[in-house]
Amino acid sequence: MTEVSEDRIENVVIIGSGPAGWTAAVYASRARLDPLVFEGAPSREMIPGGQLMFTTEVENYPGFPEGIDGQELMMSMRKQAERFDTRILTEDIVEVDASGRPFILRSSEGRTIRARTVIVATGARANWLGLENEQRLAHSGGGVSACAVCDGALPAFRDQVLAVVGGGDSAMEEATYLTKFAKEVLIIHRRDAFRASPIMAERALDNPKIKVAWNSTVTEVLGDDFITGLRLKDTHTGEEREVEVGGLFLAIGHTPNTAFLRGVVELDEAGYIRTHTNWRTATSVEGIFAAGDVMDDYFRQAVTAAGTGCMAALEAERYLAHGHPTDPGVDVSAEAVAAGD
Ligand code: NAP
Repeated sequence: MTEVSEDRIENVVIIGSGPAGWTAAVYASRARLDPLVFEGAPSREMIPGGQLMFTTEVENYPGFPEGIDGQELMMSMRKQAERFDTRILTEDIVEVDASGRPFILRSSEGRTIRARTVIVATGARANWLGLENEQRLAHSGGGVSACAVCDGALPAFRDQVLAVVGGGDSAMEEATYLTKFAKEVLIIHRRDAFRASPIMAERALDNPKIKVAWNSTVTEVLGDDFITGLRLKDTHTGEEREVEVGGLFLAIGHTPNTAFLRGVVELDEAGYIRTHTNWRTATSVEGIFAAGDVMDDYFRQAVTAAGTGCMAALEAERYLAHGHPTDPGVDVSAEAVAAGD
């Protein structure tokens, strides 16, 4: 039973249970800060453990030369945090009141928690098209993924025709990456021009293995146990056609899980938490730190998330000890954070 008293003021509350959250918990608990983790309540869209819970094989997390199953990796990180007596609640934090000190947090179970520091590690959700078979095959390892860098090198995708949906930098990057393994990569984009930066678009278009289906949307994902093809619709003519593919990668953006922080800490236009610089985890509110995909729309890797989780715990520890989040004299005002000073 996790011991949580609403009378007590927590040193560190960690919100989120992906690699960033658990790494922060390991560091904070080993620093004897007795952290409390809200690992999130399971929902249709997200389960405790975050995005890696939907990944089959993780081959790029250091320390696992044979690769490791995404769920197993997350369970191991959770166990490691528990080993140092991290307390865990399977609830969401739905509200943070940062108008005074301590911070006041409310959970999905109606719990009120007071905290000296908060580490936000709630991650981001990959956007999906929302097609029924897309979701089924994504969750069963059936060749549908929202992360080419995570899954593209798996043997099942070798020498196949692979589809990438999207027209942004991620789609260009992922399509280019996939050409290392694929026979051909088909970028499916709903308009007749890419949103991606010209240099990345050019690089993709110049690659002889990459073809583009312009003005096309995916209306159906075909396949029982593994994807076999896609039904595409021409956005101009309405005409439908089927293409055979051996893998589908979505690159249609991510949504950071920050709705509960709107008006609390500074967010960028896309909803990601702004932190002090690219390499620090201090937010616009002193005592609130952010780690992992919730503050990083660029790298989005398990190992970078874990790295920032470590940084957030160390910064929280220093803040608790010295009353400032980073070095003495560092300006963490909202203006300085926004300016990246
Ligand atoms: P993005 O720029 O928002 O692009 C998303 C793409 O998906 C757009 O082309 C959009 O089409 C398409 N899309 C969105 N919803 C769709 C739907 N329901 N059905 C079909 N298509 C849909 O996202 P991103 O590519 O992930 O990039 C996010 C940020 O990260 C950007 O600032 C980007 O520059 C940056 N980034 C940089 C690099 C790099 O420099 N190496 C790599 C990756 C990402 P429309 O164009 O029609 O809206």
